[in-house]
Order: sequence, then C-alpha cells, then structure tokens
Amino acid sequence: MDHYKGLTIVRTRRELRTWRDALRREGRTLAFIPTMGALHDGHLSLVRLGLQRADVAAASIFVNPTQFAAHEDFGSYPRDEARDIEMLHSAGCTLAYCPQPADIYPPGDRTRVLVKDISHILEGVPRPHFFEGVATVVSRLFLHVAPDIAVFGEKDYQQLQIIRRMTLDLGFPVEIVGGPTEREADGLAMSSRNVYLSADERARAGALFQVMTQCAALLAQGEPVAGVLDAGRSRILAAGFASIDYLELRNADSLDALPTDQLPPDVPARLLAAARMGRTRLIDNLPVQRG
Ligand code: AMP
Repeated sequence: MDHYKGLTIVRTRRELRTWRDALRREGRTLAFIPTMGALHDGHLSLVRLGLQRADVAAASIFVNPTQFAAHEDFGSYPRDEARDIEMLHSAGCTLAYCPQPADIYPPGDRTRVLVKDISHILEGVPRPHFFEGVATVVSRLFLHVAPDIAVFGEKDYQQLQIIRRMTLDLGFPVEIVGGPTEREADGLAMSSRNVYLSADERARAGALFQVMTQCAALLAQGEPVAGVLDAGRSRILAAGFASIDYLELRNADSLDALPTDQLPPDVPARLLAAARMGRTRLIDNLPVQRG
C-alpha cells in the first residue's frame, strides 16, 4: 500500500479487500469511479459527483486490454500515473486502485460478460468486442471494490446504458449514477484521446458539438428527423471531419431506433455521433426531448 498525501494507492486485490473491509466496519459509504487513467476534468467531475452521494470516493486506473482490438491504441494509450494520482488527490479521492493485469485476468481466464444487442449497435459496429471488454472489466471491478454507487460519464452514453443493464441483469447491489459531460470552451467533450489531435484538428473539433447542439434544438421543435440528421452530417463534414461513423437519434434508454419522420412528444431521446477528425475518432451525445 502506497500513500500520496491523503490518498491511498493499492495495487492488489488483497490489499483492496483489507481497505474495503475497514471502511465497511466504519459504516462509511463508497462511490467508485472506474477510469483508464490519463485523467482530465471530466474524470474529476465524476469523483466530485461521487462525493456528493457517498462518504468516500475510490477510483481505479486500469488500461483494460480486452476492450482494445489488435489494431487499436492499447500500447500507445496515454499513461501518467503520478499525474493521475495528484489529480485524484486534488479532487478529494481517498483511494486509487491500480490493479495488476493478473488480478483482473487470472492466468487461463476464459470468462466474458456480454450485454446482448445493445453492445453491437453504434460504437459496437466498428468495435464488435469493445463493450464485451468493458462489461467484463467493470463486472470484475465491481466484485473487487464492492462500491455502494458507481459513477460513469454520459460522455460514453452507450457504455453507461450497457452498465445500467448489466447491473440490473447480474443483480449487482450498486447504484449507477451518470455524470454530465465536461467540455472545453468551444464545446469539445473532454477525452483522454484529445491529445492525439494536431493544433489544426483541435481548432476544428468543436464543430461536432456545435452542429449537434443545433440538430438537437431542431429535433426538439419537431423538425423532420431524417432531414435534420442529413443536414447535420453535411455540416460536420464541411467543418473538416474526415468521415462520420454515425449521427443518429435513438431512444435514450434502450438506444433503439426511433421514427425518422418526427420525434414523438414525450419520448426521451439521445442524439449520438462518432466522427473522425484526422485519425482521431471523436464521440459525443446530447439529450433531445420534445416539450
Ligand atoms: P475512460 O478513462 O475514458 O475509460 O473514462 C472513465 C470515465 O470517465 C467513464 O465513465 C467516462 O464516461 C468518463 N468520462 C470521460 N470523459 C468524460 C467527460 N468529458 N465528462 C465526464 N465524464 C467523462
């Protein structure tokens, strides 16, 4: 067990259990914030939200190999533990769990968690194993940490809905809380991968949020869905994005498709997008509701 000022750093499941048992004996509640490190203000906002709902916040830092495909950036994903630890401390976090890979994936591991259907739409189309990796690691982290609540960002909205479904289906005694997306001044959603953007790409990347905001306003007024989305795609490309994987309006809970003519009143919907700026893939989403 290491300590950095008031923050305890544990690296094994055994150490974590000792810490968790002591907290339970003290009768204090625990909020858990899973991360892959390379922290920014978005992650810290989740820590702060956790501390509004529970006595103590614990974050995990683990770059999860099973959610990366072979051609993706597992090897080059930004890692800076010392900086992450300092940031967690500054946000009031009490514990950082930095497990060894073998603690999460024991030698010979053959077990996976798959939340069917919703894992294979939108983000799951270009990344068919991504959410299986996410659900698998989060379920194991829930068993290790045994939190009272767990906080996930709306930034990864499909992930949040998948975790909600998994938590219900497997009966984890954990309350799932979604935290709003933290943004840069031009609206770009904060992301650990934004460091991949060149200065020129970064200058144009805010257009995704700006176009989505305009689309969301039109959809909330009952404008025809297909027309709004087509115009939105054109504007995203005109702003300098290389390609769009999707710009779609979905049911906010199930992420099922909605009618393409007009958003029905009182159906909570979510506008979701993924687009490529240069070689960096950016995602974002916004709520849409007709009054
Ligand atoms: P990651 O480290 O990318 O796996 O993200 C860890 C958690 O932080 C996830 O629940 C994300 O949804 C959340 N997160 C990432 N970016 C943001 C953001 N800009 N605002 C709020 N939460 C975020």
